[in-house]
Amino acid sequence: GNFMLAHDYEDFPSDIFTVMMGAGATVTVGDSSTGNQTTYSCTDFLNADMTTKVLISMQIPFAAQQETMMTYKVSERHENAHAYVNASFRMTVDSTLTVTGTPTLAFGGIRAHACRATQTENYLVGKVLSNQNTLTTACNLMASELIPDSGPGDTKYRSQLSVNFFYKFYLSLLPNLPSSLASAATPFERPISTGEINYDTDPIEYPVSEYMPKIDAILQTSGEAHYADDTPVVQGTLYAAFVTSTQASADIESIDPSVALGMPGVVDFVSASDIPGENNVDTNVGVPAAYVEPLFASTSVVYYNQPIGLIVADSQSHADEAAKFVAVKYSNIQTPIVTIQDAINANSFFPEPTPFLSVNTITSGDVETGFSSSDQVFEGVVESPSQYHFHMETHQCVVAPEEDGRLVMHISTQWPASVQSLVSRVLAMPLSRITVGLKRTGGGYGAKILRSGIVGCAASVAAHKLNRPVRLIMNLNQNMEIQGKRHPYLTTYKIGVLNSGKVQALQLMYYSNGGATYDASMGSMNMALTTADNTYYFPNFSASGKCCRTNLPSNTYTRAPGCLP
Ligand SMILES: Cc1cc2nc3c(=O)[nH]c(=O)nc-3n(C[C@H](O)[C@H](O)[C@H](O)COP(=O)(O)OP(=O)(O)OC[C@H]3O[C@@H](n4cnc5c(N)ncnc54)[C@H](O)[C@@H]3O)c2cc1C
Repeated sequence: GNFMLAHDYEDFPSDIFTVMMGAGATVTVGDSSTGNQTTYSCTDFLNADMTTKVLISMQIPFAAQQETMMTYKVSERHENAHAYVNASFRMTVDSTLTVTGTPTLAFGGIRAHACRATQTENYLVGKVLSNQNTLTTACNLMASELIPDSGPGDTKYRSQLSVNFFYKFYLSLLPNLPSSLASAATPFERPISTGEINYDTDPIEYPVSEYMPKIDAILQTSGEAHYADDTPVVQGTLYAAFVTSTQASADIESIDPSVALGMPGVVDFVSASDIPGENNVDTNVGVPAAYVEPLFASTSVVYYNQPIGLIVADSQSHADEAAKFVAVKYSNIQTPIVTIQDAINANSFFPEPTPFLSVNTITSGDVETGFSSSDQVFEGVVESPSQYHFHMETHQCVVAPEEDGRLVMHISTQWPASVQSLVSRVLAMPLSRITVGLKRTGGGYGAKILRSGIVGCAASVAAHKLNRPVRLIMNLNQNMEIQGKRHPYLTTYKIGVLNSGKVQALQLMYYSNGGATYDASMGSMNMALTTADNTYYFPNFSASGKCCRTNLPSNTYTRAPGCLP
């Protein structure tokens, strides 16, 4: 695989390829269309057409008598970092320190693909290494023939690195090096790293400024911390996976789970008709009926990947696989509204029915007066994009029915009380019969304030219906597809300034992309407006906003929601 990446991508600085080029390895390639096999040198392999072909084997020659091979690499870090320059050298030197045969001097990170310093290789043939002139001429020749192309790192640095590698190699071939040079010839051994933190605090102020380790620190860094998914699996546990829409704006004609139900390990399909209470996971109060967020879509879908139900099976892989086979028929398929500009064009904004669900315009002074007293007035648009939360722990819930139908759940959430009240509404079950447990969240960044309710409710409906423990552990794909992200914003501004640079007036109009349901759109917008003037004083200021309704998963709180660059 590494060889093929080197073949296909000029900017991939493969270490293995450089090493094998230096070793004089050859590769055998098979052609699936003809059945023929061809053996290439590393250099020729780079130019071979690999269409319909596969790498079958690699031949690495044994070292000859008196042959030495060394490899080198310099990268940003020791682990998980590509080379700035790597090198692989092979040279045969006899007892008189004379180079016999042609050495191989291979480099990566100089040209697009790995290359050889052929002029230097040819020069070295028959030369005596103990002669100072051999070293000087070889290094100069190498510096002149290895001019780095564009690539990572400074070209002068990479050119110097390649010569330095050769210098180290050269010294390693010389016996009885003086002590001042010996360290250059041996590879650098990095000792095991240690760390120490020093707190420059004043004990007189304690407990203020006193060092207090985070309670979980040792557990988390040692990997012993338990998350919802670490809840032990009890007998009879079932595993759930969301079935999601494949249209962003359409009516649902029919939902047919029959194929999925016949697949291995599948126990049930849970959908809106299994909800004993309200099909409503909206956390806002006063949402107009047409905008309420259902737990499972049943009559229409308003975003791609909207949950329609759950497949429940005897294993996660069975549930994941079968979830793809629930057949949903759509009608009245509409072109989705995706961007803020789409929404503005379609006049698609969330209504503001209550003071709680409203955008609160911020004003001070009078912007029109400010503009008329300005020397210059500028107008423009600023856009800020979305952002995925990337919590390491995905949304997940493990829920089990207890003796008399009560539910006990472990869920990753930033708002357990909200999960409890949503489950209560969806199951028409008193709050007192629902226990929400939470040891810790493996990252939330706002995504688990309002959005974890869907996961808790979906798992609870399945557990309640089947009277079995259910684990709903979202995989990373579904986590990114179903759950919303940071609200993108588009802001128009008009600013009036004096020629001295003093601002007279600032008028802002914010548009956010709320996705398909209200969720945190009004809250984020109001935070945007209240933080819009940042730390500055504008004598005349106005900031207003509109939350766009689009056919995206509902965007949600994300660290410092609405605080825009
Ligand atoms: C964080 C990170 C750090 C890394 N650091 C380095 C580094 O410092 N140095 C370095 O050299 N690499 C580095 N890599 C790259 C890594 O070494 C390669 O991704 C890996 O070697 C690919 O090999 P694979 O066998 O897993 O190939 P795959 O990922 O399985 O395949 C890669 C490609 O080769 C094709 N392929 C695989 N086998 C064959 C075959 N027999 N015939 C034809 N085509 C085939 C595949 O179809 C695919 O297109 C890094 C990768 C990561 C993720």
